[in-house]
Amino acid sequence: MIDLSLTDEQQLAAKLARDFARREVAPTIQEQDAVGEFDRSLLAKMAGLGLLGVSLPTRWDGAGGDYITLGLVCEELEHVDTSLRVILSVHVGLNSLTLLSWGTDEQKRRWLVPQASGEKVATFGLTEPSAGSDALGIRSIARRDGADYLLSGEKMWISLADVADHFLVIAWTDLEKKEARDHTGMSAFLLERGMKGLTTATIHGKLGIRAGNTGSISFDDVRVPEANRLGSEGEGFKIAMFAIDQGRYTVAAGATGLIRACLDASVEYATTRTTFGRPIAAHQLIKEMIAEMAGDYEACRLLWFKAGWLKNEGRRSTRETSLAKMQACACSEKAASNAVQVHGAYGFSSEYSVERFFRNAKGAQIYEGSREIHKLL
Ligand SMILES: Cc1cc2nc3c(=O)[nH]c(=O)nc-3n(C[C@H](O)[C@H](O)[C@H](O)COP(=O)(O)OP(=O)(O)OC[C@H]3O[C@@H](n4cnc5c(N)ncnc54)[C@H](O)[C@@H]3O)c2cc1C
Repeated sequence: MIDLSLTDEQQLAAKLARDFARREVAPTIQEQDAVGEFDRSLLAKMAGLGLLGVSLPTRWDGAGGDYITLGLVCEELEHVDTSLRVILSVHVGLNSLTLLSWGTDEQKRRWLVPQASGEKVATFGLTEPSAGSDALGIRSIARRDGADYLLSGEKMWISLADVADHFLVIAWTDLEKKEARDHTGMSAFLLERGMKGLTTATIHGKLGIRAGNTGSISFDDVRVPEANRLGSEGEGFKIAMFAIDQGRYTVAAGATGLIRACLDASVEYATTRTTFGRPIAAHQLIKEMIAEMAGDYEACRLLWFKAGWLKNEGRRSTRETSLAKMQACACSEKAASNAVQVHGAYGFSSEYSVERFFRNAKGAQIYEGSREIHKLL
């Protein structure tokens, strides 16, 4: 039996996220985007509402929602701005859900509990200056030093890098396997801000997601105790792929919310702007763009629903998640481009939000597996 109805809890969580984004972010997002600065106060507000632990079990201080709830919240957040959804993608998707699956109880008590309550903010670092899609090309190394590791290297293009308290990072622990490009030579580590040798910075001059924080993390012989290793030595690549499978799901749902934002903005504008004596909404070619947005929204929603359902069932969903991400990101880029078109010259200006949607949509064709990598998958 296929049942696509939402439970009361799921609807409530979506409403909570929608009300929060509209009340706390929508009124100022254009200015925030223009100055290009992350508003740190949002994290405490999201934590207070339980959004930072939305799909983490109550046992570990989360709000106890399922994957569909997580997707709905991501849709609502990105309906207002991509930077909001990115917070959930890294904090919940890439980091916390991975810690939940791969961590020991002791690690969960130490790192997951403060993350689920939102007391600490977490991110995930795989990408480096020299390697993104080609994860085996990373250069970070964790050398054994007694009971500890010494971590050196640099991560780049990391969401919330300059804001996060906790970092889940991947590095080579076996140098021979690094040379042979054998992924079983990689391991995963949990790092904390304040560790000696760990520094972060913000990347400026981004095309989009300007209200969000994207940055770099440098490791200069950071001493990492063995207790901070997630999984066994050699499981880093597997852990990274698991993490990305959760992160991609949030991107798919969020990009679907962006399609809806483009649709809503286009309908509103098209019914008020007139040309040749009629609202532009009455012209067939404008209707076509709007109809495509409406169809794409529904189709992309079904794709992430399917991936979320599989995840709730504890079944493998790598292919479905990749398809949902690929499709939603392509459709949101098209929707944003057409939303600018519907707005004419006004769409070309920051006076209307569709210009921001257009810039933000591009990012998702690059991160969490680029458009090309998903096609190959
Ligand atoms: C806003 C933003 C936030 C990000 N956040 C994070 C984060 O939190 N954590 C993290 O670890 N990373 C993050 N990233 C990094 C992101 O995951 C990488 O940028 C992405 O994996 C692509 O890697 P690259 O930029 O090095 O491009 P490259 O891998 O160098 O690729 C360049 C181009 O070549 C194409 N290409 C590569 N290989 C192939 C192939 N085999 N066949 C065909 N085409 C190919 C790519 O699709 C792309 O078009 C973020 C990036 C951005 C822009």
